[in-house]
Amino acid sequence: MAARPGGVEALDNTVGVSDMCLLEPLSEENFIYNLYERYRHQIIYTYIGNVVVSVNPYQHLPIYSASVIAQYRSRNIYELPPHIYAIADDAYRSMRDRNLDQCVIISGESGSGKTEASKYLMQYVAAVSGKGAAVERVKEQLLQSNPVLEAFGNAKTARNDNSSRFGKYMDIEFNYKGDPIGGVITNYLLEKSRVSTQMAGERSFHIFYQLLKGADISFLKSLYLHRNTEHYCILQQDNPTTEEDNIDHNNFWDTKEAMEVIGFQSAEIVAIFQLVASVLKLGNIRFQHISNIDGTDGCKILDEEEVFEVCDLVGCDTELLLQSLTQRTVETYREQVKTDLSSFEACYARDALCKALYSRLFTWLVQRINESIKVRKKGRRKVIGVLDIYGFEIFEANSFEQFIINYCNEKLQQIFIELTLKEEQEEYISEGIQWINVEYFNNAVICELIEKNNEGILAMLDEECLRPGNVSDLTFLDKLDHFCCSHRHYQSRGCAKSRSDRTLPHDAFRLIHYAGAVTYQVEGFIDKNNDLLFRDLSRTMFECQHPLLKTLFPEGNPLRTSRRRPATAGSQFKASVTELMKNLQTKCPNYIRCIKPNENKIPSEFDTELVKHQVRYLGLLENVRVRRAGYAYRQNYQQFLYRYKMLCVHTWPNWRGSGEKGVQTMLSYLRLNPDEYAFGATKIFIRNPRTLFWFEELRRHK
Ligand code: ADP
Ligand code: MG
Repeated sequence: MAARPGGVEALDNTVGVSDMCLLEPLSEENFIYNLYERYRHQIIYTYIGNVVVSVNPYQHLPIYSASVIAQYRSRNIYELPPHIYAIADDAYRSMRDRNLDQCVIISGESGSGKTEASKYLMQYVAAVSGKGAAVERVKEQLLQSNPVLEAFGNAKTARNDNSSRFGKYMDIEFNYKGDPIGGVITNYLLEKSRVSTQMAGERSFHIFYQLLKGADISFLKSLYLHRNTEHYCILQQDNPTTEEDNIDHNNFWDTKEAMEVIGFQSAEIVAIFQLVASVLKLGNIRFQHISNIDGTDGCKILDEEEVFEVCDLVGCDTELLLQSLTQRTVETYREQVKTDLSSFEACYARDALCKALYSRLFTWLVQRINESIKVRKKGRRKVIGVLDIYGFEIFEANSFEQFIINYCNEKLQQIFIELTLKEEQEEYISEGIQWINVEYFNNAVICELIEKNNEGILAMLDEECLRPGNVSDLTFLDKLDHFCCSHRHYQSRGCAKSRSDRTLPHDAFRLIHYAGAVTYQVEGFIDKNNDLLFRDLSRTMFECQHPLLKTLFPEGNPLRTSRRRPATAGSQFKASVTELMKNLQTKCPNYIRCIKPNENKIPSEFDTELVKHQVRYLGLLENVRVRRAGYAYRQNYQQFLYRYKMLCVHTWPNWRGSGEKGVQTMLSYLRLNPDEYAFGATKIFIRNPRTLFWFEELRRHK
């Protein structure tokens, strides 16, 4: 690969086509070839209309400097080669000058570059907006929320060394001048199972390693921690190199500094690390099986030292914690009975406690950051929302988590269809051009299958979770089969139509998502949806002296009158996705679609098959089709004339009339078939991409 110069020159526009709408003919093969050609020349961005497709370069490219930012400032999208900055600039100016709230939806699979894209976006907005001391402080706080959330919510996985294990939506709020004045972050579904187990080669959340590697020895001692990660059962051991240890060490101090910039008090920071330490230590507790005299199983704790130290960290009564880790209270309508947990049940309860503690701490952190960055002044604000959320997931084995994530992606696809078509339609109307109907696949039926009240898969799962009696993942599957077999997008061995489908296991169902078929193993659905912690443990946590820990377990308050069980994981997620969709619908959408070129996290390797999958799951071809349905290309008159006036003796070199008249003069001089174009109120619309190629050809030969 030849070295390329830095700056905008590095974003050469002449390789392949810079807008997929101009592909001729449009096919998956051509689409991917165009991406490949550009990637090969280190051109990672390509448009589909105003959507940016980004291919992860896995290397630092000289395209994010202050001078590049300066070049993209206040320029129109088509003037310069495709870039996230162009979208950022367009969104920012529409927000500031036209009062239109914006959102940027970033999607793609793990490791494709979503989080990096969101950071470049924030960096751009920070660079082009106001410079006063107060504004700078807000910007700093907004930017510093990233390292804190990454420390607590990101982890090394097989696909990405810095993988976000939660979904994030952030509203950046601006005043009438377009200066940032604050923000609100919403987090979605942290992958909390990672707290207690990780796959080989993967790690738990960064913060555990950062704390152990980075903190002063005296601070670690005060938390009863050892420097060595091998000491902690819940941390998968993957023989870190000295370099990795150093990175963790440095990141610890960055995280701490970021917390300080955001406005965390030192006491709060200590309190947070006490809880992080407690999770590590609780995870070390092992149980030994004992047989009770009455023949039932019981267990005893082998690592009492850890329990004592946790109790000291969080101000907990030792007896109480020992008891609630090994016994549970069963309430009948007349009395309360304590029963022993088997060692298996005790391990389960311990893990549930670690996961609950950590994920609630994470949610609290987000709220605490929000408290610092919230806008206190009254008055109208304008907003740019940035959504960085897990993309469509299809693994060998898919479970509840993939089901939830893919449901979210179905909803995002739906909003994409609605908003893009709506936007196209509105543009045609406002430009006074006749609307042409577009053929596309509407995925609303799949969304309904999942989320419909009382009848959807989520509702049935909740029903099964609440049903007394013998409930299991398999009775849930039976229920689904009973109600969903007639649905076009549902398959299971329990349905007549797929009874003989050997690719489908008996303990699974398959959904035909817009992006492809996914088989979900039902094992764990009931448990994960219930998301229950034994009440004894939540009571004990609530009884602790630690002020922060107490607030994380409000349901443990014995005075709490509500006997209602907490909402299930599924219904909580549905509620927050519904909220998110409502929010996005009120804004002008901008899209960044991220693609991962290879599984090896290395530069210059382009795995065509891998890319093909992503192009499908992201629905990119569909995207081009919607865009091209009427007119493939549109451009405002002035810019169009500026680029092509050299093709006509009447408009070259100086045209004195209106832009529209100039374009008319030029097109009739070129004898272009009038069916090929239409004059809108402010833009010229061109139907066929070939026309544009022809213009470009002519330009080149002038
Ligand atoms: P995702 O959020 O989609 O899982 P990330 O944004 O964390 O993926 O990107 C994964 C890794 O890929 C980053 O840590 C970085 O090394 C690399 N990367 C992503 N985008 C870029 C980019 N634009 N330039 C250079 N490297 C990138
Ligand atoms: Mg990410």
